[in-house]
This record gives sequence, structure tokens and C-alpha cells, in this order.
Amino acid sequence: MSDCIFCKIAAGGIPAKIAYEDDLVLAFHDIDPKAPTHILIIPKEHIVSAADINAENSAAAAKCLEAAAKLAAELGLADGFRLVSNCGDSAGQSVKHLHFHLLAGRDFMWPPG
Ligand code: 5GP
Ligand code: ZN
Repeated sequence: MSDCIFCKIAAGGIPAKIAYEDDLVLAFHDIDPKAPTHILIIPKEHIVSAADINAENSAAAAKCLEAAAKLAAELGLADGFRLVSNCGDSAGQSVKHLHFHLLAGRDFMWPPG
């Protein structure tokens, strides 16, 4: 997936402000934050979206959720946080590599806009 920007970030080819990394997962600060805390959590492996999670790659997706919990604890997000994955064009997915937005530091609307 040489034209995938998040694969390039995972490979170190594009710089990012890293918040967490392990063998399967990378988390980095969003370049255009929508909240005081806005971290993107991605599997290093190229998975297009949540619609493409399957028995072969679900461990990496689950590790993203584990990383979110670790980051929330580390960052002291005791007031709460939002974890969201836009899947597909009508949901507003602009980067076609699975990612979870970890958002915190302000109040969020529900239902989302
Ligand atoms: P989506 O719209 O697909 O749900 O989320 C993609 C997110 O990736 C957006 O919030 C956007 O600001 C962020 N983003 C896009 N390109 C880059 C980049 O090169 N570096 C970083 N750190 N974030 C990016
Ligand atoms: Zn990718």
C-alpha cells in the first residue's frame, strides 16, 4: 500500500508525533486536532476500515482498543473520552487505513452530527 499515508507514517517515512507504539499498533497525534486531545490509533498492517476486520487481522484491531485504554489511563482522561472510527465515505472516512480517533478535553455531542 505504497500510496497509503498511514502506512507511510507506520513505516517512519512521514513524521508524526508518536503517542504509543508496539509491534502491531501505532498511535500519533492528529495533524488537524478536533479536540484538545486528538490521537489516531492505527494497526501497522494495512486494513482499509472497520468493515474489513476479520479473523486474520482482528488481533491488530483489538490491540488498537487496548492502546486506547492505555493512553486514556496515561493521559489521565478521567472525565471521559470518545473513541470513534469513521468507516466509508458517508461516515466521513478520508484516510482508507483503519484508525480510531481518541478524542478528549471537551464535551461531545450525542448523537454525533
Ligand atoms: P478520517 O477523516 O479518515 O476519519 O480521519 C483521518 C484523520 O487523519 C483526520 O483527522 C486528519 O486530520 C488526519 N490526518 C490526515 N493526514 C495526516 C497526516 O499526514 N498526519 C497526521 N498526524 N494526521 C493526518
Ligand atoms: Zn495503509
